[in-house]
Amino acid sequence: MTLIDRWSNAAMNTYGPPALALVRGEGAVVTDESGRSYVDLIGGIAVNALGHAHPAVVAAVAEQIGTLGHVSNLYAHPRAVELAERLLALAGRPGRVFFSNSGAEANEAAFKLSRRTGRTRVVAAEGGFHGRTMGALALTGQPAKQEPFLPLPGDVTHVPYGDVEALANAVDDTTAMVLLEPIQGENGVVVPPAGYLSAAREIATRHGALLVLDEVQTGVGRTGHWFACQTEGVEPDAITLAKGLGGGLPLGALLAFGDAATLLQPGMHATTFGGNPVCCAAGLAVLDTIESEGLLDRVKRLGERLRRAIEGIGSPVVSHVRGAGLLLGIVLTEPVSATLAAKLMDAGYLAQAVQPDVLRIAPPYVLSDEEADGFVAALTGALS
Ligand code: PMP
Repeated sequence: MTLIDRWSNAAMNTYGPPALALVRGEGAVVTDESGRSYVDLIGGIAVNALGHAHPAVVAAVAEQIGTLGHVSNLYAHPRAVELAERLLALAGRPGRVFFSNSGAEANEAAFKLSRRTGRTRVVAAEGGFHGRTMGALALTGQPAKQEPFLPLPGDVTHVPYGDVEALANAVDDTTAMVLLEPIQGENGVVVPPAGYLSAAREIATRHGALLVLDEVQTGVGRTGHWFACQTEGVEPDAITLAKGLGGGLPLGALLAFGDAATLLQPGMHATTFGGNPVCCAAGLAVLDTIESEGLLDRVKRLGERLRRAIEGIGSPVVSHVRGAGLLLGIVLTEPVSATLAAKLMDAGYLAQAVQPDVLRIAPPYVLSDEEADGFVAALTGALS
């Protein structure tokens, strides 16, 4: 039996059958159980900022697990302190950090934090994705994912994404939090009109509501900025992170600024592994490497190169490429993303059919120019 067969028998069928069973990775390249290699432009779904087996992450994790493993949240330790300080410095604002193990859990923390305003109502976006735990699912604006689990907790209103007027009409003086993604990744890399986040900031402020940005997918350099909200200079009350932060280890964070930073008081929230030294050591290695290897610039440059080259194919099946940095959606004129992804896989390249008419790529920042060009050549072949 193959690993895929064994997985299908042993694992709960929440994802459907896997396309590949991967056994090894280095940089942007992953290798399956038969020994075949693929250039991975999915990157663990916007996770593997540094790709696989980056020496800085490997060394940091090995050093940390050999020095101090898990300590519980009863004690402080250097890696969590350093990572919290570092994240706040990158955000450029005073605040406090809560570490979680996933994006959903970071959003759960934001949800609970918002209740501490004394208000309960949340305004979030249609098509938004915030995770699959019950609270995060309630925040998620995708009814098909919610329907099997109703009723969901909370008092959440979803408004059309990118529509300032709809947001202004929905937010009122009973609103605890406005929760938005700077770019809707799972919804198909949907980019709001310029000025949308600034308008959201203004609307939330006017009504005394918190503005929380879910940067689980866009954060930690993915768009060419440490945080996507910095593109427009928007200052949210809180940011949630995960995915790219941990260098492949499970690490999420809620960054809360100003008054929002003190809403959760001792005893109100916790998670056993949050801020685990090994995960934090990996997170620090990720931030150090993005800085030392100049990867924010590389993300911008490579993103532009890919966008231009893909649009330059001139295929009638490609409408346009949207997104920012290395979070790109190839928007198709027909619902053929699954067929394209299968053809690309045959050619040795992994991309994701995130929507029937959108192919998503979110490759490691260390993807080489040659690998990027190889992907474009494979896509050209798949489109013809
Ligand atoms: N928020 C966003 C914007 C996401 O893209 C995701 C994951 N796709 C999540 C939250 C949930 O993160 P996790 O799967 O780590 O719970």
